[in-house]
Amino acid sequence: MRGLYIHVPFCLKKCPYCDFYSLPFSESRAEEYKNAVVRNLARYNNEQFDTVYFGGGTPSLLYKYIAEILSNVNYTLNAEITAECNPESAGEEVLGELKSAGINRLSIGVQSLNDSELNALGRKHSAEEAKNAVLLANKAGFENISADLMLGVLNQTERSLEQTIDELCRLPITHVSAYLLKIEENTVFGKKYAEIADKLPNEDFQAELYLAAVEALEKRGFIQYEISNFAKSGYESRHNLKYWRAEEYVGIGPSAHSYYKGKRFAVKKSLENFLGSEFQTEEITDEFPDREEERIMLGLRLCEGIELTEKITARLKFIPREYYRISGGRLSLTPKGFLVSNEIIAELLS
Ligand code: SF4
Repeated sequence: MRGLYIHVPFCLKKCPYCDFYSLPFSESRAEEYKNAVVRNLARYNNEQFDTVYFGGGTPSLLYKYIAEILSNVNYTLNAEITAECNPESAGEEVLGELKSAGINRLSIGVQSLNDSELNALGRKHSAEEAKNAVLLANKAGFENISADLMLGVLNQTERSLEQTIDELCRLPITHVSAYLLKIEENTVFGKKYAEIADKLPNEDFQAELYLAAVEALEKRGFIQYEISNFAKSGYESRHNLKYWRAEEYVGIGPSAHSYYKGKRFAVKKSLENFLGSEFQTEEITDEFPDREEERIMLGLRLCEGIELTEKITARLKFIPREYYRISGGRLSLTPKGFLVSNEIIAELLS
């Protein structure tokens, strides 16, 4: 069964490291956006989804409209329905509305529980607000809560990271997404890279932080199942697993990607275009021209890995043993291997 992704292109303020497509929130645009989403959903009336994911942007800003959007989606009884939200927009009213609209999984942009790191990241919330958001979500009845965690933040140390992980894992969460901060060219950080470069951890230290995070999370019962994702048993993100297992999904909203009926395409990154057209403008993307490339590139992100073939087995002699595992006829990467996954994939595809 396919998944449904809805991209909400609004945020209260642009974070200096973020290159996701989002614009300043406005109430009138939000309503127009909701109408455009409903129009586009009509094209998939015959489709039943078993996962729905509101990503962004900051979907919690749209809390008043989530119920109406979901009433236009045909989803299964046990569907996983996720909404991303930020601590500063996760008050009691918002969380209550999201819960009664049918959201059963929240992904909260915690990023760090250290105020100086949050400040360096230009986040609008404090550590205390982030913790309160998780507790409030749990009080509102959410049992499946994921927290985003940022690694390699300016001034972060191994100790400050471990403290954040320790505090985070004491909260009622079931899942952690831990991403290394990447400076993208077209972001505020990218534009002032020369000024901040010496405050950023170098590659070796980033690797240490990543390996420390894997160890600290696993010690606390969050098992790694993907390069950047960790979950308590049974709480792996069913929606995101579809991406990595090369299963199909439909994307609605500016910048959303789809993999539908064998074709991959992306929606034009323009809110104007999305609001002004009857149906969103989609352009075919050519991310994986080759099925084997798709299988290796996506599958090796997962700890379940990929089925071994003769060709792959022959290439393994060029890869250091500490970077991979073989079990039950499958190949997967170790945490050290994940750090050099691009090089390993290039070797396997050569
Ligand atoms: S809140 Fe999230 S989506 Fe919005 S600008 Fe910040 S990182 Fe990007």
